[in-house]
Amino acid sequence: MNSDLSREGFSRRGFLARSAGAAVAFGLAGGLTRRAWAGRRADTTFFEWKEISKGVHVALNRTGDNLSLAGGNSTLYADPAGALLIDAKQAIFGNTLKREAAAYSPKIARLVNTHHHFDHSGGNPCFDATPLTMHANCQKRLLESGQSNVAQMDTKIAALKAADLPGAQDAAADATKLFENLANIHADAWAPKDRTTTTGETSTLKIAGRTLTLHHFGPGHTDNDVIIHDADANIVIGGDVIFNGLHPYFDVAGGANSTSWLHSLAEIRKLCNDKTIVVPGHGPVGDVAMIDRLTEYFNKTVAAVKDAIKAGKPRDEVAKMSLPEYKDYILAAALPYLWGGIYDEYASTKKDAKPGTSYGS
Ligand SMILES: [Zn+2]
Repeated sequence: MNSDLSREGFSRRGFLARSAGAAVAFGLAGGLTRRAWAGRRADTTFFEWKEISKGVHVALNRTGDNLSLAGGNSTLYADPAGALLIDAKQAIFGNTLKREAAAYSPKIARLVNTHHHFDHSGGNPCFDATPLTMHANCQKRLLESGQSNVAQMDTKIAALKAADLPGAQDAAADATKLFENLANIHADAWAPKDRTTTTGETSTLKIAGRTLTLHHFGPGHTDNDVIIHDADANIVIGGDVIFNGLHPYFDVAGGANSTSWLHSLAEIRKLCNDKTIVVPGHGPVGDVAMIDRLTEYFNKTVAAVKDAIKAGKPRDEVAKMSLPEYKDYILAAALPYLWGGIYDEYASTKKDAKPGTSYGS
């Protein structure tokens, strides 16, 4: 996802109004009732950690579509000599992620960002002195606007304190430490030139006893998506090119484009077989079926937008459309960006089009 969503539109609508819906989503996402969570709160982590393959752990958020507390999935390749962490979630979660990851590996040897959005790279400054790897466009964007990641931290910490989630109070204390230290965090702390390695179309990363391939298949979700392929363990980590069970966030300002997003999905699909473990940017870990579902989702949405354009529907109307078969997906707030963005991509007359406001997920 992307930063402006949290920073602008959603924070103004008020956390309390969203918390009831989020509680429902927590149950769906985590498979636990609120009562079950309450019983486990004292001894559970804030993130839901899942070992998806030997030594490979994914930190899932339990926050559903509560955008104040949005956080992309993070993946940890544990290694006593120094682990690999893929994505740092949003700024308020960085210290908590670091603390909880230490249960598997005391030291993070490298942090890879799948893209520049706030809920994947916002926590980077919490991993100070850790070498970073990201796409060159990701570094460029973070150097330009990394500090936006710490806007409204006080509001978000208040939301965290009010959240009925395991480990939320400890997480709020972790976030407060960062908030109180903001004056010491330099504007380039999200992608410092002296410890950031940039990647282009393909590169190899040897770390934690593994050899991983980093791919960029052109603009998809953003202009700086990095997909991590672990051929030996048969794992693909797709970042936000893959949403599982959520409406995809379509960040036109960040480089999103449905044609090339579909191209990226097709290229990722080629890396997979029926046994591949697929880690999406948001939603539960699964298999290649989630790639096929998202591909179908995009194809159907593009077809519906093209039909609407042919029928002469104005952009404002198209931006309010959705497909009934996906009514159970969360993150409905992303729909106007998706439909409006695809409209702009295909409409022959764009003079009346209003590009969607970038929000950063
Ligand atoms: Zn994103």
